[in-house]
Amino acid sequence: MTDSPRLQRLREAGFKITHARQTVLSVLEEAGGHMTSAQVLDAVSAVDSGIGRASVFRTLDMLSRLSLIRPTFVDGSGAPVFVLLPDGHHHHIVCTGCGTVTEFDDCGLSHLTEKLEATTGVQIVGHLLEFYGLCPLCRGAAAPA
Ligand SMILES: [Zn+2]
Ligand SMILES: [Zn+2]
Ligand SMILES: [Zn+2]
Repeated sequence: MTDSPRLQRLREAGFKITHARQTVLSVLEEAGGHMTSAQVLDAVSAVDSGIGRASVFRTLDMLSRLSLIRPTFVDGSGAPVFVLLPDGHHHHIVCTGCGTVTEFDDCGLSHLTEKLEATTGVQIVGHLLEFYGLCPLCRGAAAPA
């Protein structure tokens, strides 16, 4: 089995690739991200019931600190949903009416990222960008062609 780029990031950051870490990551990757911790727990225990809740939560924490995943609150239930940051960024347009989440790839923020790095000295590894508004259905408008 070849390591996913995210597993390689873990290794580069000096973390041991334990069975629990690998399982949590592969569960998220198979689902394409967008899982609550409860969903991650269920999916992990379906793969291997020997992996405890605590190590799942520790792994989610660690992956968040490494910006491989980030918690977000898109589904409105109050439970954070973990999303993958595939290339260091992840973007949503969230409809505040029906909760529909639209994904998009091109954020055009590389220039801003460079500027922020230059002005703050922070080496930026990723971002999660969310726009909020009403979708065409909720506005009673026609979708753009
Ligand atoms: Zn809507
Ligand atoms: Zn997303
Ligand atoms: Zn972006």
